[in-house]
Amino acid sequence: MTTRSVTRTTLDHLLTEIEHRNPAQPEFLQAAHEVLETLAPVVAARPEYAEPGLIERLVEPERQVLFRVPWQDDKGRVHVNRGFRVEFNSALGPYKGGLRFHPSVNLGVIKFLGFEQIFKNALTGLGIGGGKGGSDFDPHGRSDAEVMRFCQSFMTELHRHIGEHTDVPAGDIGVGGREIGYLFGQYRRITNRWEAGVLTGKGQGWGGSLIRPEATGYGSVLFAAAMLRERGEDLEGQTAVVSGSGNVAIYTIEKLAALGANAVTCSDSSGYVVDEKGVDVELLKQVKEVERGRVDTYAERRGSSARFVPGGSVWDVPADLALPSATQNELDENAAATLVRNGVKAVSEGANMPATPEAVHLLQKAGVAFGPGKAANAGGVAVSALEMAQNHARTSWTAAKVEEELADIMNNIHTTCHETAERYDAPGDYVTGANIAGFERVADAMLAQGVI
Ligand code: GLU
Repeated sequence: MTTRSVTRTTLDHLLTEIEHRNPAQPEFLQAAHEVLETLAPVVAARPEYAEPGLIERLVEPERQVLFRVPWQDDKGRVHVNRGFRVEFNSALGPYKGGLRFHPSVNLGVIKFLGFEQIFKNALTGLGIGGGKGGSDFDPHGRSDAEVMRFCQSFMTELHRHIGEHTDVPAGDIGVGGREIGYLFGQYRRITNRWEAGVLTGKGQGWGGSLIRPEATGYGSVLFAAAMLRERGEDLEGQTAVVSGSGNVAIYTIEKLAALGANAVTCSDSSGYVVDEKGVDVELLKQVKEVERGRVDTYAERRGSSARFVPGGSVWDVPADLALPSATQNELDENAAATLVRNGVKAVSEGANMPATPEAVHLLQKAGVAFGPGKAANAGGVAVSALEMAQNHARTSWTAAKVEEELADIMNNIHTTCHETAERYDAPGDYVTGANIAGFERVADAMLAQGVI
C-alpha cells in the first residue's frame, strides 16, 4: 500500500469514529467529511500531521455552551429558546464567528458552521480562531421590542463567555445591525465596559467598520472574478443567478452590477424572482432591509421586467454564473445538473455550505470553477477582523481603505487555494486547495502549542 492509501484508511477510521461520537448531527458530519476527504495528500506528504490526536482534537470543539433563553413577547407570554456558542478552535486567535437566529438552529448546525469557520478564518491570513453561535429563535414577524428583549436575555448569559481577547461574535442569518446593537447594549450594561472589540458588525459611529455590511457579498463576487480571470475571462456582460435576499445576496447583486455583470434573480423561502433587467438593488434593500418584507413585494413593485415564481428552484434560471447566498444545502445534485446543462461557468458560495457534496462533485466533474464558501465568503469575517483592528487602535478607516484591504485578502485567498491545489496534484480544485491551506495553518499552530 502507498503512504497515501494508508493515510486514506486512517482518515476513514477517523470519520467512522466521528460519526459514532456525533449522532444526529448530519450537517456537522457533512462538513467534517468534506474536509477530511481532501486531507489525505497533505497528511501523507507531511508526517507531522499524522501525529496521533491532531485531527481528533481538530474535530472536537474546545468548548460548547448551551443555555436557556427565556423572554416575554408583547402580550406578556413567556417563550423559551435555546442559545448556543461553540468555541471550536483558538489556535490562531480569539474564537471568531457569527450568531445565527433561525428556527432550524440546533447544536449540529452550529458545530458545522463553527468547524467551517476555523478553516475560513485561517484562510484570511488574519489572527482569528473559529467559533459560531446562535439560537432557534425566529425573528420573523417579531416587533423590535420583542427582538430587543430576546437579544438582552441571550446576552445576559452569553456575556460570561465572550470578550475582545476571548470570543468575538458577529452576525449571520437573522442577526444584522439591529440585533448587534441590542446585544452590544446589553453587554456594555452588564459589564460596565466600553469594549468595542467584543462584537463586530456594529453600527457606524459606535465602533462599526465601513464596508462590513457589504463585505461578504462583495468578497464572493471578487472571488468569482478571480476564478474567471484564471480562465482568461472577466465579469463584464455575464449573467448571474443569485439565491437569497438577505445581507449576502444584496451586496452580491450590488457588486456584480458594479463590475458589469447582471444578477437576474433573488429568492426567499416563499419562492424566487426573475428580473430580466437585472435586480434593482435599491428596491430590494427597501423591501428587505427597511420594510423587512418578502421578495414577492419586490416583484409587485418592480413592474413588467420582474416576475415572482412561488416555490420552484432559482437554479432553473439559465446563467453564466451562480452565487448561492441563502443557506446550507440549497443547491443539490439536480440543481447542479440544470446549471451545467445551462452552461454555467463558475459557482461562488456566498452562503455556508450551500452546495451538497453531490452537487460539488458534479460541478467539478463538468469543469465548472467552484469556489467553496470557506474561501469565497471569507470576506465578511475578514472585514470583521479589520473592524477589531480599528477598535483596538481606536480609529476608523475610510471605505476606500477597507475595500482595498478586502480586495487584497480575497485575491490572496484565491491565489493560496489555487497554488495549494496545484501543489497537491489537484489543479483547479478550490475545495482541496481551501481545505488543505486552511488546515496547514491551523495544524501548524496546534502542533507548536502542544497537546491542549
Ligand atoms: N457569519 C459570517 C460568516 O459566516 C461572518 C462571521 C464574522 O464576521 O465573525 O463568516
